[in-house]
Amino acid sequence: MVVQKGLAARYPSVKTIDAKNRIIAPGFIDVHAHIEGGIFERPTADNYIYDGVTTVVTGNCGSGADDIGDFLKSIDSIKTSINVATLAGHNTIKRLGMGLENRRATADEMKRMEALTLEAMQDGAVGLSTGLIYLPGMYSPTDEIVSLAKVAASKGGVYATHMRYEGTKVNEAIEEALTIGREANIPVQISHFKVTGKNNWGRSIETLAMVEEARRQGFDVTIDQYPYTASSTNLAVRVPDWALEGGLDSLRVRIKDPETRKKILNGMKESQKRDKQKNYGFAVVASFAPDSTYNGKSITQINKDLGRKSNFTNEANLILDMLARANAQMIYHTMNEKDLVHFMKYPFNMPAADAGVSNGKGMPHPRGFGTNARVLSRYVREQKVIGLEEAVRRMTSLPASKFNLKDRGLIMAGRYADIVIFDENEIRDLSVYENPHQYSTGISYVLVNGKPVIQEAKHTGVRSGVALRSAQ
Ligand SMILES: [Zn+2]
Repeated sequence: MVVQKGLAARYPSVKTIDAKNRIIAPGFIDVHAHIEGGIFERPTADNYIYDGVTTVVTGNCGSGADDIGDFLKSIDSIKTSINVATLAGHNTIKRLGMGLENRRATADEMKRMEALTLEAMQDGAVGLSTGLIYLPGMYSPTDEIVSLAKVAASKGGVYATHMRYEGTKVNEAIEEALTIGREANIPVQISHFKVTGKNNWGRSIETLAMVEEARRQGFDVTIDQYPYTASSTNLAVRVPDWALEGGLDSLRVRIKDPETRKKILNGMKESQKRDKQKNYGFAVVASFAPDSTYNGKSITQINKDLGRKSNFTNEANLILDMLARANAQMIYHTMNEKDLVHFMKYPFNMPAADAGVSNGKGMPHPRGFGTNARVLSRYVREQKVIGLEEAVRRMTSLPASKFNLKDRGLIMAGRYADIVIFDENEIRDLSVYENPHQYSTGISYVLVNGKPVIQEAKHTGVRSGVALRSAQ
């Protein structure tokens, strides 16, 4: 007879999982998600679960749910396989508070936006996010963001930012993020930290140094990163900010006016010159609703396929013609592996997929399927950029403490049993740009709040996740 001692005697097992030669880690926490749309279509969140993720923080890049309270209630009522926390989105709040206009907020509008931020925080948001390349946040002066960040800070929130610039002017943008943190006295999370554009490759040294220096001064700033050298966002980010005032419908009116169209093209030409891009070969369509034959092709390729001469003007015109029909989801190949690795070595950097819940359609960025497995295989096992324990810490306790996710991120008595069991020699991402709908492999069990969501490497369909509200 086996005499059970210690914990095993105190907690007789209901079910035994053989985890011999496997790593038992806290469930992975992904602090940079955009699941507002997808989670209701697929509450089992397969792409996250198969990558070991048990909790996401959504509402990033300025785009949170219109009503945080309703959103979190719906998460609880549909029942999801992952736990969901959310940020309040600055773009959402600004749109509700003053529309999509390119001007300073009036005193009344400021008051309205502050009230909306407070309400979102009281409803359970864990902080405020900005997306300063998107509408209408791109028109916000720094002091407007400081005012709203102060409200989030008063309720213990964090400030997560998709910065105004990630290319040539990235230093300015980091400075702005740090200023907002200091003036609002709020912990800062710089989202999907990167330097884009060939002419900026190598600048990870100076940009990370700015973050390190701020931390040395005692300032709480952390970053997150997806382990890929391509980014993913929409097609409209390619046109100048002013052309987007009022939204896509207004852009369409401007595109039709020959004079204004010329001005937009000139703006596009300037930014191409600044970033030293010869053409739009770096810009690949992930999903374009009006014509799915574009999916997976670069703008340069589509332009060629249409029988047009390859030059910048033709390609820029193609972009405007596409935008006249619909916005497209894009993948931009603009980063460099050395910079990525330099950022990864930073101890206050957390892997985060910057993805949604996949519905199996289009050609999405592989980061939505393979972020954690890729860090653990390519960068831990193969390239030894960081150690296994360190990677797990960045996927678990670091994000939990930064985003105040109470009783998550560690395996301890009294904490929620969000657990992932994987084989450190087998875990691997399979999703690639050309064939993204591939789940990661090597994870044998995922428990969410004590229930098996992955069992013997298969999703069980169990939906034991809950909405996580800030402890207000
Ligand atoms: Zn973003």
